[in-house]
Amino acid sequence: MWFGIEFKDGFVIYLAVTLGCLFGAMLFDEYRRERRQKWKVSEDRLGRCPDCGQPFIAERTLTSVLCPRCGRPCSVRKPRA
Ligand SMILES: [Zn+2]
Repeated sequence: MWFGIEFKDGFVIYLAVTLGCLFGAMLFDEYRRERRQKWKVSEDRLGRCPDCGQPFIAERTLTSVLCPRCGRPCSVRKPRA
């Protein structure tokens, strides 16, 4: 009788811990993916005009684009190799 109750409790705890770990791993994976996307956008595609401060999205292959607001050529940071 005692053994049965303890076994059931242990199983419930084991199940809860396993589900908790799975849920945590899922959250961590989602968090990592989100961070990687943000990093990619800020590093490769987001430029900012040094003259008027207008931020803009630039093509990855371009190294300089015209500012959409004042028309000045702005250099875009090169993506990391
Ligand atoms: Zn500008």
